[in-house]
Amino acid sequence: MAATKPHQNLREAKPETSRPSLRLRVTAAAESALRRGEPWVFAESIRSQNRDGDTGELGIVYDRNNKFLAAGLFDPDSPIRLRVLQYGKPQNIDRAWWLSRLRTALGRRAGLFDGSTTGFRYISGESDGWPGLVLDRYDRTLVLKIYTMAWLPWLKTVLLVLAQEVSPERIVLRLSRNIAAQTRTRFDHEDGEVIFGNPITGPVVFLESGLRFEADVVRGQKTGFFLDQRENRRRISELARGRAVLNAFSFSGGFSLYAARGGAKSVSDIDISTHALAAAKRNFALNKSSPVLDCSYEQIQADAFEWLQSNKARKFDLMILDPPSLARRENERAGAIHAYGKLAAAAIQHLRPKGILLACSCSAHVTVDEFFNAVRSASTRSRRRFEELETTRHPPDHPATFKAAEYLKAIYLRLE
Ligand code: SAH
Repeated sequence: MAATKPHQNLREAKPETSRPSLRLRVTAAAESALRRGEPWVFAESIRSQNRDGDTGELGIVYDRNNKFLAAGLFDPDSPIRLRVLQYGKPQNIDRAWWLSRLRTALGRRAGLFDGSTTGFRYISGESDGWPGLVLDRYDRTLVLKIYTMAWLPWLKTVLLVLAQEVSPERIVLRLSRNIAAQTRTRFDHEDGEVIFGNPITGPVVFLESGLRFEADVVRGQKTGFFLDQRENRRRISELARGRAVLNAFSFSGGFSLYAARGGAKSVSDIDISTHALAAAKRNFALNKSSPVLDCSYEQIQADAFEWLQSNKARKFDLMILDPPSLARRENERAGAIHAYGKLAAAAIQHLRPKGILLACSCSAHVTVDEFFNAVRSASTRSRRRFEELETTRHPPDHPATFKAAEYLKAIYLRLE
């Protein structure tokens, strides 16, 4: 378990006053992008700056007429050199400003969930005006994940406004892989550290649509659970009655529990990871008092791509494909589109007549059309008639307001 630091000495960083503010001038294309509301300024778009900038200090972009254009978090170590906090008119980025920005994000989620869902996203990065930061809630535990070291000088202020506004039991800090080592040496913070409140003494359990799940907030992928698939899970629950369900890339069994509760005849999970399958077993156990247990449940530890190719005799009525991102970089895009098509084609061979396939993609580099068309053409190639039931995108607590933020898409097909 990661170390806990007492939060009593939470104090805000004093703004640096002795130096002139960091002023940037950017290319004409970057100016237009900022006017359109794009949240990033890349290093190569910066034409000049008045001095070197420190990690996390405010950088102010002036346009060619010397007018304020935007202010944001400067990151000298990232190709995304500035992440915009404020467009159009200058503002003091002080505690009151952060509080108001937090209230806006919380306000957006007001009324989305009732007491049967205590795990959801409070802040969705750039799309909520908090560039490079996400905040997830798991009951009374908050998980703050940062993707740039530029947040570290602001951390105490952010914790103070969170403590004031949300009163969590604890806040866990998660660091994206590319900043974890440097954050330790330069800022003395660890991935998985409890940076506010009580230490973690057991699994963090929360509710989603009345089902109990555990989130591995210290070490798990993302912030410990895939909150973004909630709406698709609800849909699966409605489709599952009486069906034999295969959940490929099952992770901690999110879709599986919904299918079981929705009346599935059987649920089979495939995942390559022992850790994921063990978590799914624990999640089934957490719900043993609900009707979930009535369904027969099996786990298969395997590479899902291989298993689907080599176990053609196994048939299902409802199949879920939710692989990890298959394109982490732009140059992996074409390969990923091909792999999505192959995966869907392999799955279709396991589908009984009138079976339903849900295929999902979380690769931001693969567009919605590229993904949907890959799955549709796999269905066409199967020579079975098919009907497209629906397509889905981001859930309301995971807004995506610009292109690079749009990663999640899913398509439901019924095959004759
Ligand atoms: N559907 C899940 C999230 C899936 S995350 C949910 O709703 O929570 C992707 C999962 O795929 C991870 O659990 C990972 O262990 C698993 N995985 C990655 N590569 C795999 C492979 N080749 N075969 C099977 N599982 C794989």
